[in-house]
Amino acid sequence: MKIGIVGLGLIGGSLGIDFRSHNYTVLGVSRSLETCQTAIKIGAVDDATTDLEFVAQTDLIFICTPLDRIIPTLQQLIPYLRPTTIVTDVGSVKASIVYPCSQLWTNFVGGHPMAGTAGQGIADAQTKLFVNRPYVLTPIATIPPESVKILENVVRSIGANLFLCTPEAHDRSVAWISHLPVIVSASLIQACMSESDLGIRQLSQNLASSGFASTSRVGGGNPELGVLMAQYNQEALLRSLHQFQEHLNCLITDIKAENWTNLGQSLESTRRDRSLFVRMPQFNREIGNRVIFTLSFFLFCFCVASSIG
Ligand code: NAP
Repeated sequence: MKIGIVGLGLIGGSLGIDFRSHNYTVLGVSRSLETCQTAIKIGAVDDATTDLEFVAQTDLIFICTPLDRIIPTLQQLIPYLRPTTIVTDVGSVKASIVYPCSQLWTNFVGGHPMAGTAGQGIADAQTKLFVNRPYVLTPIATIPPESVKILENVVRSIGANLFLCTPEAHDRSVAWISHLPVIVSASLIQACMSESDLGIRQLSQNLASSGFASTSRVGGGNPELGVLMAQYNQEALLRSLHQFQEHLNCLITDIKAENWTNLGQSLESTRRDRSLFVRMPQFNREIGNRVIFTLSFFLFCFCVASSIG
């Protein structure tokens, strides 16, 4: 199968690297010629150009541009597509993309790989970015089921964990676990920078360690992506932010009132509930078997050597 990727950035480039390592032929299109050349050099594509027509010969096209360029890109692609070509996107918001795109192209299946880094552009593309990460597909009723099946198989082939849901359910869920954290993390950094005593601010910066690194990571990511995600998922994000504000106010009230019991109970439940969202890395059966085999082999050698000795 030939795969086309439009938008050779962090996500498009990383998908390309993994698809090629699973023997798919990958043709890329990006806005800048330099990006196309880098993508070829690092092995993210078999070939790439700045001309959209280049991906017309592929069977499955991933649109990996920023959110606001997904619909215009599909509109420009349509004159070159065969009726059987499946088109998908990787945008981090679904309803506002999926419905207009499905109107334009019946064979459009919305998608969102739940993986990323603070990086941006082809220079930050990396191998195995999607392994053991959720990858959501949001097919709607008008999409041919066989197109969804083909995309499901491709997504599974790069080691991602597949989930299917409606575009609306996707947007409300990611508002909680992806978009709200970006805004909360950004406001954390802003609050720290608002310290008016410059000596204290400098000392905080010197003392900041792993805890601050974890909690500020997503607030220090790609600003363009952050603005687009708020713009395209405004309603669900605001809903989550208001509920977050209420919970923050309750915690402030407990601290002000020196209600340490309440505060302790809240922290007890958050400690317990975090594991519902953040799973421990999955045990890799294959690696586990190899470790067991190696240990058994050494134990066997040791027993033989002891009995000889
Ligand atoms: P990125 O690193 O900035 O890459 C986007 C690439 O799209 C740029 O490198 C740019 O290539 C290219 N581009 C921009 N406009 C274009 C156009 N009109 N035609 C062709 N190429 C165009 O961004 P990203 O992080 O990969 O994000 C891309 C998409 O993935 C977004 O829709 C985002 O919502 C989604 N996503 C991101 C993450 C994440 O954590 N980063 C996670 C999941 C999903 P040039 O260099 O050629 O200009």
